[in-house]
Amino acid sequence: MEQLLNKSVLVLNRNWQAIQTCSARRAVHLLATGHAKVVQDEGEEKYETHDFSSWLEYSKINPQEHMLRSIQIAIRVPRIVVLSYYDRFPAQQVTFSRRNVFLRDGHICQYCHKEFPENELNLDHVIPRKKGGVTTWENIVTSCIKCNTRKGDKLPKDANMHPKNQPVTPRWKADFSMRDRSYDSAWCTFLQH
Ligand SMILES: [Zn+2]
Repeated sequence: MEQLLNKSVLVLNRNWQAIQTCSARRAVHLLATGHAKVVQDEGEEKYETHDFSSWLEYSKINPQEHMLRSIQIAIRVPRIVVLSYYDRFPAQQVTFSRRNVFLRDGHICQYCHKEFPENELNLDHVIPRKKGGVTTWENIVTSCIKCNTRKGDKLPKDANMHPKNQPVTPRWKADFSMRDRSYDSAWCTFLQH
């Protein structure tokens, strides 16, 4: 049950543009409070939308192996919901975080150009902190532990180590937050830019 509630659901804005993913728990809450509708992802009425009661009905007629159940109801886990109220595209910023830096750089050490799993990566200050470097998108790159140690507190030119890509604030993309999540095939239609 817990696992089902944490399943990723694609969220569309009113223009049917993918804006983010949320947990099934949140999607059902949005549905129950009328803030979103479920987008049907199969069958003849594909892309029909359902409010809470219509989705309950649909769940009853088309039950799934994995259903969210309480004493009174059994409901299918939505795969896509569309928001009822937001007309505008929400803020398009990617949160600065360790994981998002790794995602921006494709888990590739910016110095030796090799790919590493997350636990073998570090964040490297291009201009070292000791030399006034700040912790921002523009000064932080993905580095393997070995390269990170080798570079130490040296400037790129002194270490002769230059990042493969100029570090920049990533442009927000709907799929940015999804790259490390299991990708649902039903989302495809909405993830083409
Ligand atoms: Zn490296």
